[in-house]
Amino acid sequence: MCNILRHMPMRFIQGHRRGLSILLASMVLSLLLTDSVSSSSPHPATPNTGDMVAPVDGPPRYPFTRDASMACGQWKRNSRDYPYFGAPRDPKPRRHAGVDLYPPQGEGAPVKAMKAGQVIKVASFYTRANGEKTYGVLIDHLDFTANYAELKKPGMKAGQTVASGEIIGQVSRTRQLHLELYEAGTRDWSRWYGEKPAKLLDPTRAMTELLYGEGTKARE
Ligand SMILES: [Zn+2]
Repeated sequence: MCNILRHMPMRFIQGHRRGLSILLASMVLSLLLTDSVSSSSPHPATPNTGDMVAPVDGPPRYPFTRDASMACGQWKRNSRDYPYFGAPRDPKPRRHAGVDLYPPQGEGAPVKAMKAGQVIKVASFYTRANGEKTYGVLIDHLDFTANYAELKKPGMKAGQTVASGEIIGQVSRTRQLHLELYEAGTRDWSRWYGEKPAKLLDPTRAMTELLYGEGTKARE
């Protein structure tokens, strides 16, 4: 913009000052609008839950939204174990790429496929400080991909098809299902360092609908 102005005769600029001001104002406005749209919805929409099955029985022992989990007293201030999406993790730049759902049954609770699909990958997911190894099952559900993680060693294999509601694993001694959602077509899970991985979706709204049902606003 500055370069353009420098090469214009002064008379032209004065004659067109009003037009230029309007142009500049509209450029600033469009920048502001773009910014406010992206900051009000930092994460893409979660899948429509109309035809989905809850991945664990509920309601969960602990809330998994940011505000409610911070307020519930289960985790200390500045904890690196908060269950909400995007919560800080160690090492410090890592963030929580899913939500942690604590079914009432605890360890051994069945984990179910939210829709029919095909298993993409079964792999170790995390080794806890106590040495327990947990696993993830990544499933292609056509309109989204889900990683069901922090499970006991599952009996599933890549390539296997699953029915909606089929039991695909069991909750480990962590007593939680760590659930990640990705855009359709995603073939692997991601760790979240710095910027959010592009295909990672926020599962909070979908899980709130599935686990608490109608009238869930008060719990969010
Ligand atoms: Zn987790």
